[in-house]
Amino acid sequence: MCHRPLRAAFCLAALHGLSAGAVENAPAGAQAQQIARAGSQASVAGPAEYFTGRVRIDPVWPASDTLNASGGLVTFEPGARSAWHTHPAGQRLVVTSGVGLTQEWGKPVQEIRPGDVVWCPPGVKHWHGAAPGTAMTHLAVTGTVDGRNVEWLEKVSDAQYPQR
Ligand code: MN
Repeated sequence: MCHRPLRAAFCLAALHGLSAGAVENAPAGAQAQQIARAGSQASVAGPAEYFTGRVRIDPVWPASDTLNASGGLVTFEPGARSAWHTHPAGQRLVVTSGVGLTQEWGKPVQEIRPGDVVWCPPGVKHWHGAAPGTAMTHLAVTGTVDGRNVEWLEKVSDAQYPQR
């Protein structure tokens, strides 16, 4: 539409064959690109209610209507781990540094290392954390159902957690 004064310059450019491609190709109602700047989201401590040991959570992105899964970087100090839990829509873990451990209920503990990608299916009881002597960081991508992405269960006991 060329009758609105603010668009006049673009319309003129289009008529003369100049590049207005970005404007013409944008779907009606399209949202603008966004950049969440590094340092704009505060780190938070993993609550003692749900974690054993020292855990830091750095939010990366929240779940939204257009992408219904949140992202967060979780850093576990040596020996630190989540409580047992399930995810209603599942979760993917991408190990980014260190050496970690994860376990599904009733199955052996598995070591996870940088580059490993873990899929935790919906409703499957599991935990994840650091190795006994080495810290671990993973990106956690967690789906959401009705605003919830985790159901917390009991802590991983010292007897359940592999000792070094
Ligand atoms: Mn999990």
